Amino acid sequence: MMNNVRVVLVETSHAGNIGAAARAMKTMGLSRLVLVSPRQFPAAEATAMAAGADDLLAGAECVESLGQALAGCSLVVGSSARPRRLRMPVMTPRAMMREVSAQPDSEEIALVFGRERSGLTNDELGFCHLLAEIPADPDYSSLNVASAVQIMTYELRLAAGEDQVRADRVPMAPLATSQEMQHFYTHLEEVLVQTGFLDQGNPRHLMRRLHRLFNRVRPDKNEINILRGILASVQTWRSEVGKGRE
Ligand code: SAH
Repeated sequence: MMNNVRVVLVETSHAGNIGAAARAMKTMGLSRLVLVSPRQFPAAEATAMAAGADDLLAGAECVESLGQALAGCSLVVGSSARPRRLRMPVMTPRAMMREVSAQPDSEEIALVFGRERSGLTNDELGFCHLLAEIPADPDYSSLNVASAVQIMTYELRLAAGEDQVRADRVPMAPLATSQEMQHFYTHLEEVLVQTGFLDQGNPRHLMRRLHRLFNRVRPDKNEINILRGILASVQTWRSEVGKGRE
């Protein structure tokens, strides 16, 4: 059950939190833990806090970047304590997990959690299709990261246990994976530089907005292929026009 869901912890500084997160996951029936550049791992403190969930730590995958952690994922869910200024749609964990549990089992899903001190960067949020905020006291809204993992995975378990009408949710074609989206963004940026549309002085601003736009739509593989084809045709056209001028 829910083998298609992985929990991704980004640059966790306290090893004890990794152990506590593993324990939280295991109580909710999840087993796939991916660690992006943890400060210290493996660590005795992690094992101590994991209690009986040390098998999750043994199986945890360590990678260097969030992009690597999301390999194969077609739905990336971020969680953040202060998402308001991000201008991205934000959901409660409950609404979010209804959406997540309605995905077919064939889709790989990542639940992403940020650093203890600073959360997730804007670039990292650029990978996320959906963002969850755990409702909390506005004056003190930042939970311990393992507590956030517990709440999110608890909501997933509740939602997954409900009867799901999945048939109408099944996408027509498999959704584009995170890597396919990244290749598309790279291609798009290349073309926008070539056409002169992108402000070379501040290219990131527009690219972030475009990430938000396409992540909201969640294109499938065919749609991404069409978009890549359009980009390639612009490049061919441009080089032909260039030749005509010579
Ligand atoms: N000062 C940081 C707090 C990080 S807490 C910030 O404002 O983002 C570490 C991680 O726990 C966060 O990156 C997030 O993934 C999760 N988290 C903590 N509190 C949360 C909340 N209220 N809603 C959603 N996620 C939360």
